[in-house]
Amino acid sequence: MSIEKVDTLVVGAGQAGLAASEHLSNNGVEHLVLERARIAECWRTARWDSLVANGPAWHDRFPTMEFECAPGDFPGKDEVTAYFEAFARKIAAPVRCGVEVTRLAKHDGGAGYLVDTSDGRVQANNVICATGPFQQPVIPPLVPELPGLLQMHSHGYRSPQQLPPGAVLVVGSGSSGSQIADELLRSGRRVFLSVGPHDRPPRSYRGRDFVWWLGVLGKWDLATVDPDTAHVTIAVSGALGGHTVDFRRFAQRGMTLLGMTGQFSDGRLSFADDLQANINSGDANYLAMLDEADAYVERNGLDLPEEPSARIIDDDPACLKNPVRSVDLADENITSIIWATGYRNDFNWMNVDVFDADGKPVHVRGVSQEQGIYFLGLPWLSRRGSSFIWGVWHDAKYVADHITTQHRYLEHHATIPAVVTTD
Ligand SMILES: Cc1cc2nc3c(=O)[nH]c(=O)nc-3n(C[C@H](O)[C@H](O)[C@H](O)COP(=O)(O)OP(=O)(O)OC[C@H]3O[C@@H](n4cnc5c(N)ncnc54)[C@H](O)[C@@H]3O)c2cc1C
Repeated sequence: MSIEKVDTLVVGAGQAGLAASEHLSNNGVEHLVLERARIAECWRTARWDSLVANGPAWHDRFPTMEFECAPGDFPGKDEVTAYFEAFARKIAAPVRCGVEVTRLAKHDGGAGYLVDTSDGRVQANNVICATGPFQQPVIPPLVPELPGLLQMHSHGYRSPQQLPPGAVLVVGSGSSGSQIADELLRSGRRVFLSVGPHDRPPRSYRGRDFVWWLGVLGKWDLATVDPDTAHVTIAVSGALGGHTVDFRRFAQRGMTLLGMTGQFSDGRLSFADDLQANINSGDANYLAMLDEADAYVERNGLDLPEEPSARIIDDDPACLKNPVRSVDLADENITSIIWATGYRNDFNWMNVDVFDADGKPVHVRGVSQEQGIYFLGLPWLSRRGSSFIWGVWHDAKYVADHITTQHRYLEHHATIPAVVTTD
């Protein structure tokens, strides 16, 4: 079997793989990017039709290329795809599409790794795994398959028209769940939303977008997840020009808010008694951010308009005062459940010792303990911003520089004879 040799193999041509390619090229590192589908495939086929970027174009981008739209706009998923395609052309990224990496193992008796792909075998000194932070949709096994009930993950949701007539239960109150529930409500559906622990930063405050506030307050740079809030999702939306996610206002518009989804029995789905607590902690998170923003304005003497109306928290809607603890799906004519319940990783193809007992990659800023194996694009890889477009670009620079430093050591080794001195 002929084996193609490359110094560094990048697996995946999403934003992480492309950022890696830019920095590797800048450092003169020979590399190849293998992508099982197309560039930015997830933005093409794993997002709903109306999805726009969570951050405005001036912020959610690589530092080396701007979006074509106005800086304050929230690019749609097709614009994001086009952006990455154009970026790949701009940097002449050596991407080979339609090639899936199926197995990676140490090259016994040789340097580096042997990588099996759908198009043959590759030998690489370094492998950067850039296969995405959100790989396999997770649906908790709570509701069995039932006639007349469509269940799907947010990964497969496209638009309200895709769903059968009837009410919809959306499970999950992060950015995906809250945006999908809002869209369904606007389309005229009856919507039930199961709300878990969440943060909900203001979309903007005192004339500045929340991405700016998180930046100046140093929150994108936080290096470790607080174990107490690791399970908390963030509800933000760039939809319809961008607005703060406010679950009380969803309820005012007719949405029924529910606690965390529990067990299903005899056609009834139960919900935890935690709705009020989850809404309250979301409000507390929101107000804390306003406080921090005000303190920043004060300390730095910024001339930003005050915005007292942002502090108004509406009265509790009825579904919050008297939470519904169980719902009979048939009685409520719930014909669809959309599980916006997150993703798990899939590194089964990596036959190397770089994972902990839970299967999570062990690494420091993307550099694993196994020489030449790197990760990019994982949530919190180096900091909070790591899985976002601009964040992965900085992580990719670190990884490319690490590879380059290793090259420098080997170049030194090749040019200077080793002399052993003895006493
Ligand atoms: C609904 C949603 C909305 C988001 N919105 C934003 C946003 O607005 N702004 C933002 O900054 N971030 C956003 N994110 C987070 C993150 O930016 C995206 O998930 C982004 O797609 C991650 O980029 P990536 O390159 O790390 O991974 P991916 O985009 O998932 O790319 C990985 C690539 O690897 C390929 N691949 C996987 N396995 C293999 C294999 N074995 N062989 C070959 N190729 C393989 C895949 O086909 C894919 O193209 C969002 C995430 C979700 C789920």
